[in-house]
Formats: sequence, C-alpha cells, structure tokens
Amino acid sequence: MVDFSLSTEERQIRDTVRAFITKEVMPLEQEVLRNERAGRPGVAPEVIAELRAKARRSGFWGVNTPEEYGGMDLGAVMSAIIAMETGRTFVPFSFGGSADNILYACTDEQKQQYLLPTIEGERRSCFAITEPGAGSDARNIRTRAVRDGDDWLITGEKIFITGGNEADFVMVFAVTDPDKGADGGVTCFLADRDMGWKSEPIATMGEWGPASLVFDEVRVPGRNVLGEVGKGFELAMRWIGQGRYLIPARAIGSAERMLQMAVDYAPTRHSMGRPIADYQAIQWQIADSQVEIESAKWLTLYAAWRVQQGLDARHASSIAKLNGAVMANQVVDRVLQIHGGMGYTKELPIERWYRELRLLRIFEGTDEIQKRTIARNLLKGHVRLGGIGE
Ligand SMILES: Cc1cc2nc3c(=O)[nH]c(=O)nc-3n(C[C@H](O)[C@H](O)[C@H](O)COP(=O)(O)OP(=O)(O)OC[C@H]3O[C@@H](n4cnc5c(N)ncnc54)[C@H](O)[C@@H]3O)c2cc1C
Repeated sequence: MVDFSLSTEERQIRDTVRAFITKEVMPLEQEVLRNERAGRPGVAPEVIAELRAKARRSGFWGVNTPEEYGGMDLGAVMSAIIAMETGRTFVPFSFGGSADNILYACTDEQKQQYLLPTIEGERRSCFAITEPGAGSDARNIRTRAVRDGDDWLITGEKIFITGGNEADFVMVFAVTDPDKGADGGVTCFLADRDMGWKSEPIATMGEWGPASLVFDEVRVPGRNVLGEVGKGFELAMRWIGQGRYLIPARAIGSAERMLQMAVDYAPTRHSMGRPIADYQAIQWQIADSQVEIESAKWLTLYAAWRVQQGLDARHASSIAKLNGAVMANQVVDRVLQIHGGMGYTKELPIERWYRELRLLRIFEGTDEIQKRTIARNLLKGHVRLGGIGE
C-alpha cells in the first residue's frame, strides 16, 4: 500500500527543525536584509558557525552524513524534508557536519586532508566544472591537466563557481585525455588554494556571488586525484545529481512561507471597498500557488524516495528539479503581485526572494536541459509511461 505519512520519529525531527529555524534563524532576517541593503554580507560566517554549533549540541549534525563520520545519516527523504524547513527562511543557513557527496570517494589519506575537515566545518570546498565555453555542454570542458613526473599541471578557467572565492580547496574537473573527452578522459583533482589557483568574485542579481577561477599551470600532486584518472565526469554527474532533489526541496519551503505572507496580507488590504482576498483574481493566484507547491512537494519526495531506495533517481530528479524551480518562480511572482507596490519595495523580503529564486532555473541543469533529459529518456525508451514507483 502507498503510505504518505511520516513516522513519529520523522515528524519529531521535522518539528524540531521547524522550531529551530523559527526560534533561532528567522529572528536574524531583518538584520540580514539591513546588512545586504547596506552592501555588506547578510550574515557573518561566525554567526552561522555559532548556530551550527548550537544545533549540534541539540543533536543536529550531519543530516545526511554516514554515522561512521559522526553524522545522523537520516537518508534522502528526511534530508529533503529538512531542506524544506531550512528553505522557509532566506537566511543562508544549513546544518553543519556535511560534505560534498563525492568527497566520500577520497582515499584514506585524502579523507584526513579534505573529507573530515570539511565535515567539521574547518575547510570549505567548491565544485568546479563550468567554464566560459562549457556550461550546459559540460562534456565540452577544455581545462587541461598534463602529467609532469608524479604531478599534474592544470591550466584553464572555471566560471560561476559557488563559494569559489571563499573555498580552501576545489574539486576541479580537467581533461586528462583529449581523445576520450568526457568518456574516460576527464579527471577530478583536489586542488588547495595555496597550490596557486586564483579566484575573482562575480557580481550577480542575487545576494551572494560565485567566482571565476584561473589555473595557470597549477601543480597538483598525483595523490590528489579524486577517484580514478579518467573517471571524473561520472563524479561530476554524481555531485550534480544530489542537488536535483534538494534544490526543489528548499524552494518548496520558500514558496510556502511566501504564500503564507500572501494569505495573511490579502484579507487586510482593502481596495474598492473590500479586502482584496474577496476578489477571485487574488483567490486564483493563491489557489494556483498551493496546487503547484503541493505538486512540487510530492515530486520531490518521490525523487528523494528513489534515491533512498537505491533506485535510479535521475529521471524523477530531473522532473522534480524542473517543476520545483518553475513553481518557485511562479509563486514568488504571484506573491509579489498580490502585495502590489509594497511587494516591489525593499521594505519586504519578496523582491530578494524573487532575485534569488531566479537562479534555480539556471544552475545545476537549466530548465531546458532538464526537459531535454526527460524527453530523451522517453524517446529512447529508458523510462516508460504508466508506472508507479517502478
Ligand atoms: C549563481 C550560479 C552559481 C553556480 N554554481 C556553480 C558551481 O558551483 N559549479 C559549477 O561548476 N557551475 C556552477 N554554475 C554554472 C551553472 O551550472 C551554469 O550556468 C549552467 O549549467 C548553464 O550553463 P551556461 O551558463 O553556460 O549557459 P548555456 O549552457 O550557455 O545555456 C544558455 C541557454 O541555452 C540553453 N541551452 C543550452 N544547451 C541547450 C540544448 N542542448 N538544448 C536546449 N537549450 C539549451 C540553456 O538552457 C540556456 O537557456 C553556477 C551558475 C550560477 C549562475
């Protein structure tokens, strides 16, 4: 039988996270807005570190991290539910104790240097595949790594790298065999900043900026290959695959919070002698938003469930990511519309969410690339219509 209910333990975890976000994180929102409006970072890294430490003291650490690394290992479904809760605020908070999924491919020596300090929050990573000439077409990267004795020399440019200006090390993808390209000729390297790569922030319409990275014959020891030589593209796809259910999960929390703002505002705002909540034009925007949020919720939980069951989740995740990104943009636009001129001002956080959520339709696979994947899977017979959970 299909069962959509949460277990008692799952509900308790969800409620605890919701209480933490409401009591500890949301009170920072006004300060975050003030700081950002003044051109400063919204929240200092020390404040986030303190919040993470507080959460850790109450048991929240490493939501999706294996227990052998001190994590809670709650699985993909619970991780998605937690992302929905953290998404309710625009304060850039996430629980500590986690690391990029592909860092678990580290050797024992690499684990000491990269995986464990990242889990502890002592080191910051970034993931770099995109280049000025290769975004959606990631198979076409040109950054080159050539052997020099036991080392590799990496040369090339990466662009739009989240955290690239703050990271201590990068998981950088480079071509090691141009004849093979992405099919066996791309390798992932762990490159510390002090090995010589440079970063430059990129201003965006959002409140946090990615960076461009330049590698000019950066010398990386052979022991810093992550995984195997030639198997980098698979690692890149695995990293991107993880975000495909967490991105819409977070968007669901944001959309629900904003829709609540519209639901609270519409009965209080009067126009032509009546609350705007009385007008069908407003009611339909509210109803459409909830329908879309609920659709996104179940698509996302289904994708997460497939991940948790060890089933192939790629198709379901593409559907969830596409749907969630579009949904969030439609909801924020409607919520802004319902607030009229006030929605457009910087008095309210709606315009901030509007700018931030626009990214969801672009990174980690644009809308068009998700549609291409979905259509190709159907046209090539990789997935069949009509199934439930198969
Ligand atoms: C804020 C931000 C953070 C990011 N963080 C990271 C990061 O941490 N690490 C990283 O490696 N990258 C990162 N990216 C890069 C991001 O993944 C790419 O921007 C994205 O994949 C799109 O690539 P592109 O910008 O080169 O656009 P393009 O690939 O040039 O696409 C331009 C347009 O053409 C469409 N298009 C392209 N190919 C096709 C096709 N075959 N069929 C139909 N339409 C197509 C696209 O959908 C898009 O609308 C980030 C980007 C941003 C903006």
